[in-house]
Amino acid sequence: MTSTPTASWNSAGAQAPKFKPFIRQTISHSRQWEWLTPDLQEAVQVVSHVLPFRTNEYVMDHLIDWSNIPDDPIFRLTFPHRDMLAPDDYAQLRELVLGRANQQALTELVRRIRLRMNPHPAGQMTHNVPRVNDAPLKGLQHKYKETVLFFPSAGQTCHAYCTFCFRWPQFVGMDDMKFDAKESHQLADYLRLHPEVTDVLITGGDPLIMNTRSLEAYIEPLLAPDLAHIQNIRIGTKSVAYWPQRFVTDRDADDLLRLFERVVDSGKNMAIMGHYNHAVELRPEIAQQAVKRIVGTGATLRMQGPLIRHINEDPRSWAELWQTGVRLGAIPYYMFVERDTGPREYFQLPLARAHEIFQQAYQMVSGLSRTVRGPSMSAFPGKVVIDGIVTIGGEKVFALQFLQARNADWVRKPFYAKFDPNATWMDELKPAFGKDKFFFEEEGGSRSEYGAEPPGQRKVIPLIAARQDDGQRGGAAAGCGAHNSA
Ligand code: SF4
Repeated sequence: MTSTPTASWNSAGAQAPKFKPFIRQTISHSRQWEWLTPDLQEAVQVVSHVLPFRTNEYVMDHLIDWSNIPDDPIFRLTFPHRDMLAPDDYAQLRELVLGRANQQALTELVRRIRLRMNPHPAGQMTHNVPRVNDAPLKGLQHKYKETVLFFPSAGQTCHAYCTFCFRWPQFVGMDDMKFDAKESHQLADYLRLHPEVTDVLITGGDPLIMNTRSLEAYIEPLLAPDLAHIQNIRIGTKSVAYWPQRFVTDRDADDLLRLFERVVDSGKNMAIMGHYNHAVELRPEIAQQAVKRIVGTGATLRMQGPLIRHINEDPRSWAELWQTGVRLGAIPYYMFVERDTGPREYFQLPLARAHEIFQQAYQMVSGLSRTVRGPSMSAFPGKVVIDGIVTIGGEKVFALQFLQARNADWVRKPFYAKFDPNATWMDELKPAFGKDKFFFEEEGGSRSEYGAEPPGQRKVIPLIAARQDDGQRGGAAAGCGAHNSA
């Protein structure tokens, strides 16, 4: 049961739908709220103190099938569920929230739960932050030689929040854990000093939450003659799915397209890294129009997203998504493995299952969709893809390789891990063939920021006290894991 559109998608201007978000404090004003059982309503109110909650009218009216809640994939994607927290945590939190306990006790509990959720995986806070004159540039990340990630401070919220998102600290006021860069000149200054950089990824949150004029202020300086070494400007965004009106009917949608055209005319590649989670996101006409309008500017649109239990385990959904995208002119790019952060236990799938889903989806599509790569882990040493499960010399192993790596020499070198049907992430894998270390560990690399320590024995990284606000704000700091394609 999806609803009828309330405005014509085709006529920009007067009838254009207005963006209307819902958060914990306002969701009960939505007409769909009463369709949730009291249990589901309670879960939203309780869990959203830990995981940020934000959805919008378009998602609720056109993407969620309300006859299928709570199992509907987009409902799971945007509405907090009680199982996203450990049962004890949920029970304690529930008592404090429903009992209207003092704010201090609630703040402390929320902070404790969040800090157990690995808010910055893969060494983001410690290993990838570039420096100029020995001062860290907080709004930039430079993990791979040729690519710099930029986090404009005005682009750090999203049209809706994904419940699995690994970038969640920036939405919940954990100020010591945020990236931002208030000034676009920081980016240009840094790039002038780094001629080896060819790609800039503007990420968030979602940079396309910004109006076109603000985005322009970040992009125009990159077109200057002294930055000729920047060949590709990428924007990571989920607006293609959560608010495709951004490219079609928003007041400055046409200005945005003109900006893309200016980048293309300057001789650079304008690459939109579109985050999609499910085939349903590309079924509405407005979403298809958005794809056509983007590629009509000469920009490229690549499709990527994580594989997530409860949301997109069905290979047919991936196949439909890739096929529809290709028909409209987009390029299937990545299927990611759910990262080791947030409510990971709820969303994760074993690597073996992830490989199986990828393979099945891949076999359903034609060669034009087989540009997609995966399942890929954005792990501490680099982007590791599972190429297959094979038996070599009587030993069953995962065949792996780096698609990106902290050390460029590691890229595309096959390596092998013992098959483990339960492993869900790189740091749970052990080298195959009786070895103690993976090849990159012999060359000074590490499989996680904790070295080879198993997950249960890691030291907690000390963090400055995190501030708990209402969990609903946007407005500052880091980018979208699923659209992070560096
Ligand atoms: S940053 Fe991306 S993955 Fe995270 S909540 Fe926003 S849209 Fe979702």
